[in-house]
Amino acid sequence: MPAIKSEYPNEDSDSTLNTEDVIVSVGSDSKIFTLPRDVLTEIFPDMDLDYEAASSDFSYWDPNIFALFEKWLYSGTLADLSEDDEEEAKDLLRQYLEMYFLATIWNVQDLENLIMDKIRHRHTCGDGYFPRSLIKSVYENTEPGSILREYVADSFLYKSALWGKEVRHELIKRHLDYGNTDFVYETIVAFDDVEDLLDILDPNRDMDCGYHNHREGRVCSV
Ligand SMILES: [Zn+2]
Repeated sequence: MPAIKSEYPNEDSDSTLNTEDVIVSVGSDSKIFTLPRDVLTEIFPDMDLDYEAASSDFSYWDPNIFALFEKWLYSGTLADLSEDDEEEAKDLLRQYLEMYFLATIWNVQDLENLIMDKIRHRHTCGDGYFPRSLIKSVYENTEPGSILREYVADSFLYKSALWGKEVRHELIKRHLDYGNTDFVYETIVAFDDVEDLLDILDPNRDMDCGYHNHREGRVCSV
């Protein structure tokens, strides 16, 4: 495993690195990741990759999240969320959300859109529904008007129409107790705009490009 090029931008540095790769050390245990330079250059055309790799502090990063990013860089895809094991799906969903928040900061929309597709696909199976802790995380890590917030609220709206009034009230109370006040406010406002519950459409009804972000003029590549 090559050493980390820690002296960059010292041009006299005697490095034995493979220049095709970008090496970073992640997490408190300094797990080493080797990232494909050509793919990174395509995603971050304006970034000085060597400088970022050497000067950024990745010690607070979760290596599991970074491993997902690495997997996506090499394969262009991510695993589906489990349809059999609820806990496993929730665990991976939590990591995908972390990745989504980073992809939003980095403006990497292909990754955002892929994660959105994975989430929507999972929700078409069984009664997959965001737990309160993950909804809280969504609202803590996104801006008002975010497409992820929109999706979470639309999902709750659709499912709570199916669940009925008593279940809905109980769930709203639980969300309030948990501190998800913005989420509750937005779903109640959305509910008030609905004239007939039958008008509420399944947010997972059409997988084509739904809830994606695209830069202007850019076609979907997911
Ligand atoms: Zn799209």
